[in-house]
Amino acid sequence: MGVLEDVFECRQCGCCCFGRRGVRFYAEDLEAAASFLRLTASELKRLYLAPGKEPWDIRTDPEGFCLFHQPDGRCLIHAVKPEVCRRWPFLPGPLNDESAFQDAAEACPGLKKGLKWSDFKRAFGRSAGQTE
Ligand code: SF4
Ligand code: SF4
Repeated sequence: MGVLEDVFECRQCGCCCFGRRGVRFYAEDLEAAASFLRLTASELKRLYLAPGKEPWDIRTDPEGFCLFHQPDGRCLIHAVKPEVCRRWPFLPGPLNDESAFQDAAEACPGLKKGLKWSDFKRAFGRSAGQTE
């Protein structure tokens, strides 16, 4: 328990909410966020998502931040945010590729300074109930 917290603590800097980093909404995300914000699904789509077919890109503000990103760095839909946001930085890329891990470590101040890739992977594996 608490294994991820040994190597990661979100600083709510909002860096991972900047740009179009592949954060997409699926139908279940749409339903959850609409209900959380007390909007209809079509209202939420119109206000926050790019047009097109599922999965929908979240629109960005003029500075390039996700529209759910708040000025204080928090996420407006934190409780129901998409899976990729819930899992970051413990995503397949950084878990399977050391250079992707180095990029994530540079981008995310929530990862412990000087963290090794092996310790990152180990912490994730232990949190998922795997044995070393
Ligand atoms: S970049 Fe890291 S520390 Fe900053 S908000 Fe995202 S997860 Fe948290
Ligand atoms: S949904 Fe929330 S956590 Fe995900 S990118 Fe947008 S503001 Fe950040």
